[in-house]
Amino acid sequence: MQKLTWDIQYLSPPSAIKYCKKCGKKTEHLCSGLFRINAQRKYLDIWLIYKCSDCDSTWNMTIYSRINPKSITHEILDGFNSNNRELSKIYAMNTELIRKNGAEVGLPKYKILGDNINFNTPIELHIKSSYPSRLKVSSLLREKMNLSQNAFEQMITSGSIRSTSGLDLKKCRLQADVILIIDKE
Ligand SMILES: [Zn+2]
Repeated sequence: MQKLTWDIQYLSPPSAIKYCKKCGKKTEHLCSGLFRINAQRKYLDIWLIYKCSDCDSTWNMTIYSRINPKSITHEILDGFNSNNRELSKIYAMNTELIRKNGAEVGLPKYKILGDNINFNTPIELHIKSSYPSRLKVSSLLREKMNLSQNAFEQMITSGSIRSTSGLDLKKCRLQADVILIIDKE
């Protein structure tokens, strides 16, 4: 069996979808990469700033609320103060945090890095993602293999594409690395 790896490279963090007062509807909010910090007596509040993609209104996503500054490391505190890009990316990619803040998680922009599938030999395909995302495994497979919905579902039904851990390939999202066997007769 030939082993093949696809790496999902994220070109943007997911948007946060929530109601915008100014627009009067739910809109996509994009991460600005900037933090906002408020120090009050002994406590800190830390937010990540998002902007409505339609009207630029800001929305602050809570990262920490009333925490003791001593409970986080100097490095991380410096990161908040200097709007460290890597640090903002970690929070912006945290879909659980977005949901906890009452927003829906939009889809990130992404690219699939890796070779196309050659159907001559059975393949063990590893799909790797550095973050859990809302991307559907079926969309990734169909896009990269250039399959119609029908052709894809037929491959699942016939067992010529299957997950080694029993995932439902029609529905599952890319929460962690996925291993598939592709064996087209
Ligand atoms: Zn708006």
